[in-house]
Amino acid sequence: MLRLDDVSIRYSGSHVDVVDRVSIDIAEGAALGLVGESGSGKSTVARAIVGLTSVRNGSVTVAGSDVTNAKGAALAHVRATVQMVFQDPNASLHPRMTVGDAVAEAVTVRRRLSGAGLESEVARLLDLVGLPARFVDRFPFELSGGQRQRVAIARALAPQPKLLLLDEPTASLDVSVQATVLNLLRELQRELGLTYLAISHDLAVIRYLCDRVAVMELGSIKEAGPATEMFAAPRHHYTAALLDAVPRLAGRRTERIVLRGDPSDASERPPGCSFHLRCPAGPGAVDGHERCAVEVPTLAGAPHAVACHFPLAVPD
Ligand code: ADP
Ligand code: MG
Repeated sequence: MLRLDDVSIRYSGSHVDVVDRVSIDIAEGAALGLVGESGSGKSTVARAIVGLTSVRNGSVTVAGSDVTNAKGAALAHVRATVQMVFQDPNASLHPRMTVGDAVAEAVTVRRRLSGAGLESEVARLLDLVGLPARFVDRFPFELSGGQRQRVAIARALAPQPKLLLLDEPTASLDVSVQATVLNLLRELQRELGLTYLAISHDLAVIRYLCDRVAVMELGSIKEAGPATEMFAAPRHHYTAALLDAVPRLAGRRTERIVLRGDPSDASERPPGCSFHLRCPAGPGAVDGHERCAVEVPTLAGAPHAVACHFPLAVPD
């Protein structure tokens, strides 16, 4: 359903790639989680898929069609196939438009429906996202954050997409509400056979929604593989450090890994492995690991791939 092949992206005016040779593959009906610290390039990847940011190198394929820097018919194909759900539902809701009108608007962008047909489609979509029918006449300010995100999800589903890009879909919600929205997203995926690319800095969100995970650091994928295996036995030191920052996911731990230094941005990307200055197995920490400061590790291995010269051992 989605393939990124060796995609590099740089913003105009910059001389560095904020997304650096990223490859991603998601089968129809599967859910891939893209995790990483803030600024690692996750949202840029999503924006490139829907044509909001142009790709400098590499290709983007959606449902079998090359949509790299799409225009015209290719862009229409993307719009018919892919929808996004953002962190902030307010961004996609007009404050003076009722829920019913907002959902109806999203339906009619791509589908010729009007009158009773449109009304019943709006009712069906509200029901699908777990909102009572009487909500059609409500305004966004009358809704809770979770209800607003449900309206945003209904709008995303209105054009009948196959692929949803979920960019931090629960980050703006109270913890108690996050679970209900995640539950809804998981049910919708199963019921409608949707494909998900879920972006989050929160590993719990990814673990709940996704069967596969790709970990991004400073614009490149450092580790990718089956979610269960990666959460239980990460092989990249960066993934291990991320997991360690979430004690409830880490399971049995021996020693706490502390990431040295702040995440830098792409303009300060060091040579070699971009993580080596912060890595507990980097040349500053382990003698003999000088290679990490010189040679960019390639992402290798299937189905569990890691880009590290000295990966963590596979447990027996
Ligand atoms: P994430 O979603 O992982 O937090 P982003 O994709 O938003 O990361 O950003 C990746 C990098 O690109 C950051 O260093 C950010 O500052 C930079 N960036 C994002 N949007 C723009 C833009 N419109 N122009 C220039 N730089 C940008
Ligand atoms: Mg982001």
